[in-house]
Amino acid sequence: RGGAAEPVIPFAQPDSLTRVYAIASGKGGVGKSSITANLAVAMAEQGLKVGVVDADVYGFSIPRMLGVQHTPTKVDDMIIPPVAHGVKVISIGMFVPPGQPVVWRGPMLHRALQQFLADVFWGDLDVLLLDLPPGTGDIAISVAQLLPSSELVVVTTPQVAAAEVAERAGSIALQTRQHIVGVIENMSWLEQPDGSRVEVFGSGGGQAVADNLGKATGAPVPLLGQIPLDTELRAAADGGTPVTLATPDSPGARVLHEVARGL
Ligand code: ADP
Repeated sequence: RGGAAEPVIPFAQPDSLTRVYAIASGKGGVGKSSITANLAVAMAEQGLKVGVVDADVYGFSIPRMLGVQHTPTKVDDMIIPPVAHGVKVISIGMFVPPGQPVVWRGPMLHRALQQFLADVFWGDLDVLLLDLPPGTGDIAISVAQLLPSSELVVVTTPQVAAAEVAERAGSIALQTRQHIVGVIENMSWLEQPDGSRVEVFGSGGGQAVADNLGKATGAPVPLLGQIPLDTELRAAADGGTPVTLATPDSPGARVLHEVARGL
């Protein structure tokens, strides 16, 4: 590869058959990474070839959630990604010394992302999921530039304050001309032993984000699912086996499997 030639990103080629989903949220802590990890293993279980790029540079958590045991290896000029639960995974966390913060600026992040897409040996993927950092930062713009056909999935909680920032993160699609696949509402309610629901974070946020993004883009944006609060989901993520594999019958896992089938 000589001089200033741009690296070739297979997923950006017109004949690429890989669907690329960027998972976005307005703020942190709403479950974006948990959802990315769970959708990935659920889709792999359906028989799809799945890759995940953890682009949440400042808060990378995908390797832990997927229980990734190995670091990437290098063969010739290619980076071989570790595989966890049948999913190929690359994270910025695999390239910084443990315990060190990532202090990179936009251009360096752009190059790192470019490398993850061009120099990693992904093989033929059916689906590539990108876990974006929260908000509307440099990485979201880089993803849109490097992968113009990538589609956005927006994650929010039911809370009005969360929904407002999620909407802002989603409306980046107006500038980047990306398609918004839909909205996933997380932490929608807590089911009581008697079957009743406690709406811990209020209600309506996911539907509101979907409606408003639909109006803003002029194309309907569906609410893809509402994931309840689920102790198993949290415990499974901490243990490195996402809940869709660990406890597929738990309330959260059932919704995640359904969303994965619909994507
Ligand atoms: P983000 O990527 O948006 O910052 P995470 O996926 O890291 O959010 O989730 C934040 C925390 O909330 C994690 O500890 C995760 O296990 C937990 N969590 C996410 N969704 C749920 C849920 N539906 N029920 C219970 N805990 C959840």
